[in-house]
Amino acid sequence: MSAERFETEFSEMMALIDRHQSVLVTGHIDPDGDCIGSMFAIAQMLEEMGKKVICYAPGEISDLFLKLPGASMLAEREEASSFEHDLVIAVDSPNTARTENFARPCENEDVINIDHHPTNEMYGCVNIVDGAAAAAAVLVYRFFMSVAPDRITAGVADCLYLGILMDTGGFRFQNVDSEALRIASELIDFGARAYELAHEYIYVEKFTTLRLLGLVLDSLRLYLDGRAATMEVTSEMLERTGTTLKDSEGFVDYGAALDDVELVALFRETAPGEVRVSLRSRNHHDVSALAERFGGGGHVRAAGLTLKTDLASARETIVDGFAELLG
Ligand code: 5GP
Ligand code: MN
Repeated sequence: MSAERFETEFSEMMALIDRHQSVLVTGHIDPDGDCIGSMFAIAQMLEEMGKKVICYAPGEISDLFLKLPGASMLAEREEASSFEHDLVIAVDSPNTARTENFARPCENEDVINIDHHPTNEMYGCVNIVDGAAAAAAVLVYRFFMSVAPDRITAGVADCLYLGILMDTGGFRFQNVDSEALRIASELIDFGARAYELAHEYIYVEKFTTLRLLGLVLDSLRLYLDGRAATMEVTSEMLERTGTTLKDSEGFVDYGAALDDVELVALFRETAPGEVRVSLRSRNHHDVSALAERFGGGGHVRAAGLTLKTDLASARETIVDGFAELLG
């Protein structure tokens, strides 16, 4: 567990909230469960306090998240752009570009930055950043416990539990620590529905999604004596199975489940000549360093980037990078 408790930052954050009436809660492009859960937890608290609040993160949002408590505050891009606000709270976002500038640095506006990416650029007026925390939701939980534990309703608990559940891959990844498990356990006492959330967000898949997974697994290739693997999602696969890119969320982890594999890349064709790359490292090899070389980023064991090229040369570029990493 991290030594940083952020007590000063939590009071400053609460003081900013008290001073302001309209709050935009934002997060990174294509928000995952941690980002969404953290946003919705904070938004529910603000709404209870009588604030005007909306949540917005750019990109694609899985329909599954629309069922969560707090989802009614999720806005469309247009509404978010014209929403008059005097405070921004950004979660799970290492820099303002990841929010497509829905959060801007402190020089421009009152902004609170809550994140667990070690590469965070500290753009907030208040920065609650702990690269050792398993999820952004861990930091949001610490905030609630510090300033308003009585505001952890069952709905808030669901959202924070989901954040930890998903960022730890169902409590399996290397970022699982005693704090993540302790908080998860406390959240169950606050009313989080552990079984329902695991079932809905980790286990259950649509028929079309599993068919897509079949095609993606079929694209699996091994490199570098089986220590690296790649997989891909083409637009043709999506068409054939009637799926969209967001249905392939989490597929990269199947590659990481391979025996002896250290490094995995999943390539997703987002547009002609544009490929989104998800990188995973099983152990100590730092994939965020590789991602950063191409304008991406992330954590040591999970990172991402976008390449303006076709699938074949994206694969070549990344496999070359993997070869360097593996030495
Ligand atoms: P994923 O592969 O699941 O999309 O992303 C893995 C991790 O890398 C996440 O923590 C995500 O925030 C980070 N990440 C993914 N793409 C980018 C990117 O383009 N820039 C930065 N800075 N981080 C990224
Ligand atoms: Mn996260």
